[in-house]
Amino acid sequence: MKSECIKAEICKARGGARAIATLTFDDGVRTAALALSELLSEYGLCGSLMTVPTRVMGEPPYSSGYADADDINGFVALGTLEPQSHSYSHLYIAEPGHPDHRPENCTDENREREILGSKKWLEEHFPDVPCVSLAVPGGSYDEKTESLIMKTFYAARRSGLGGVEMQSLTPSDEAVRGGWYRLSSIWLKEERISDIFNYLDKCVEEGGWFIAGCHNLFGAELGRGNYDITPEALRTVLARVREYKACGKLWAASFSEATRYLREYEGSSVSAYCEGGDILVEVTMKNETPRGLPLTADVFNYPLTVRVELPADREGARYLLGGEYQCARVESEGGKTYAYIDIIPNSGAVRVEGEG
Ligand SMILES: [Zn+2]
Repeated sequence: MKSECIKAEICKARGGARAIATLTFDDGVRTAALALSELLSEYGLCGSLMTVPTRVMGEPPYSSGYADADDINGFVALGTLEPQSHSYSHLYIAEPGHPDHRPENCTDENREREILGSKKWLEEHFPDVPCVSLAVPGGSYDEKTESLIMKTFYAARRSGLGGVEMQSLTPSDEAVRGGWYRLSSIWLKEERISDIFNYLDKCVEEGGWFIAGCHNLFGAELGRGNYDITPEALRTVLARVREYKACGKLWAASFSEATRYLREYEGSSVSAYCEGGDILVEVTMKNETPRGLPLTADVFNYPLTVRVELPADREGARYLLGGEYQCARVESEGGKTYAYIDIIPNSGAVRVEGEG
């Protein structure tokens, strides 16, 4: 028998964190990718390798020097770097007026290959990683390409665009800047290290999505292509992210994890009520985004964190996730006790029991 309703809300970031940090690395130069994977593993963090299939395959004109499929599978197994799309062949399909605009590139055939083709290739070769996000080569695309991106991907990052407006945790489709397809990011440039720290601090303070990007590391044996940041300077950024993560203020998520979580958050609602001595909590998700992209259960099954008020006599809570009991994190505020419960949307009501 259902009784009174209980207060519950879905958190904007996993675990009830205030902010999200997503580290993206473009192009996949092999020496840099191997060094990044090691660094991320050392700091207990993860990132996304914005991947170009033709370079993974070693096709001309980039027939060597890039991480191959075995390298990337190794990163996925370690949990350090996941592949997401950086187009199929790094072709610029930039808007007119942009320095990378090449009228001859702007054909429907190219758009299909670069956008649809990259997703298809990556999901065929790395089936365990849903390819939901994209970084646009050169940071610009023409209108037709943008509309294809909006039908194919769930989020797109533009590269470091001058000054940074804080990326909100609730992007909208329409926003000219900071929307789902124009996500604001900051570039990891050696000479801008204090800007990077300020931006990260601001995101944590105000509740934003810190998306960082870079091409390459430089230093002994690492130099090739664009020189962005030394491993030493990157370490200082990773250390600050790790620190915020350790105190629960920041969720360090790969691009695909953050995209899945925030898209689910956008389309979900929660209800909670008492039954017997327990609380039942249910998260219901729509089956598509506001623009009509499908939120299929095989991809959009990332657990959302729900903050639920516990009855006055309760100090702890446990619940089942994926068939295993989880001990909920519990927090007191204003004389009330709240538990944080991870729930997969549309998986039915989750029973929150007293502890033990
Ligand atoms: Zn690139």
